[in-house]
Amino acid sequence: MSNTLQAVRGMNDILPDEAEAWEEFESLVRGWLRSYGYRPIRTPVVEPTPLFKRAIGEVTDIVEKEMYSFTDALNGEDLTLRPEGTASCVRAVLQHNMLYQAPQRLYYLGQMFRHERPQKGRYRQFHQVGVEALGFAGPDIDVEHILMCQRLWDDLGLEGVRLEINSLGSSEERASHRAELIAYFEKHEALLDADAKRRLHTNPLRILDSKNPDMQDLAEKAPRLSDHLGEASLKHFEGVQNLLKDAGVPYRVNPRLVRGLDYYNLTVFEWITDKLGAQGTICAGGRYDGLIGQLGGKPAPAAGFAMGVERLLALWREHQTGDMGWAPDVYLAYMGDAAQRMAFGVAEELRSGGLSVLLHCGGGSFKAQMKKADASGAPLAVIIGEDEVAKNSVMLKPLRRELGQRAVERGALVEEISEYLFEADD
Ligand code: ATP
Ligand code: MG
Repeated sequence: MSNTLQAVRGMNDILPDEAEAWEEFESLVRGWLRSYGYRPIRTPVVEPTPLFKRAIGEVTDIVEKEMYSFTDALNGEDLTLRPEGTASCVRAVLQHNMLYQAPQRLYYLGQMFRHERPQKGRYRQFHQVGVEALGFAGPDIDVEHILMCQRLWDDLGLEGVRLEINSLGSSEERASHRAELIAYFEKHEALLDADAKRRLHTNPLRILDSKNPDMQDLAEKAPRLSDHLGEASLKHFEGVQNLLKDAGVPYRVNPRLVRGLDYYNLTVFEWITDKLGAQGTICAGGRYDGLIGQLGGKPAPAAGFAMGVERLLALWREHQTGDMGWAPDVYLAYMGDAAQRMAFGVAEELRSGGLSVLLHCGGGSFKAQMKKADASGAPLAVIIGEDEVAKNSVMLKPLRRELGQRAVERGALVEEISEYLFEADD
């Protein structure tokens, strides 16, 4: 057995083949976000622990058992690796007075940390793309968020992602439902699993969300929050549904959709696929009108969503065909000291001309170099030997087509290569 060190369990290295797909995804996502007028914000990965306790809620799974919290050994501060992005985003907006001028449409993209049991689609370090719209009260922004998601699935070519929505009403409405819910579950206490018993008096709403098959019947028949919604909540929910219908986005109202974070109210939604097994929720979000006030700001409405990048990419890659690996435009081989000096110059000229070049390093025979050129996936090799140095020209050799090599004058090389690549693309 070797004793080389391994990454922390549940935290993944993303190796080049995959990392290239990530970069492609990220650039697509940034373009998509810009097209809706959302602007980037970057916050620290570490925050004061009380931020998450206050924002997410003390009796949520995340705060109770999933946070990487530690005491700063140097100054005794309680710190936590962020488990989600909304709390940090709101903190930053308040700290920098960003709501003073105008409402804000923001997005972030980055690592999150949760101490969960690692499995497919569930990791201890994972990534989210998150969107927050702060200072907007109406159902219009809720629907903007849902339509944005739909467009991204379309742009990525994802199929079979379905939308579930629900309304969590106001805190008063949830309190009145909660009382009825506790009474109902108490009456059936013998049927509750350990998790549900633990949550009965702290967070009974979460019991509705139980994944335990033995609990499904009980949860299905439980009193519904929708029966406790007042006029304002119903009107907001109706507004959301009307706009969704106008836009032709299919959805299902799932009365048991509750979300795991305490800050949500009114609209909540999830996008779900059947193709990823148990970890099928690729995106989740909703309205959190109370959070800004809860974190010490002047109360203002807000809504947002976050998607799991690992899950999305797993789904995206299922749809992709062909080789995703990166290949340079040109592999540059050379032989001899003078040729090496010329090769460095030629490589930079090609790059200035917008081409990607893998410059051979490490010496070796021409034959060995051509093997590497072949393996690189480049469509073209540029070869420089003594003769070429003398004539200030190079040999251009197509690697993927049955065409012979030919001499090209150094000054004409960028144009020749660009033309070749353009034609080969057809
Ligand atoms: P789940 O029910 O799967 O635990 P959640 O409700 O805890 O999800 P959110 O906090 O709403 O998730 O995060 C939004 C999205 O981030 C999820 O829909 C999922 O795609 C992704 N996500 C959450 N936790 C993880 C994780 N541990 N590993 C990978 N992706 C995750
Ligand atoms: Mg979770």
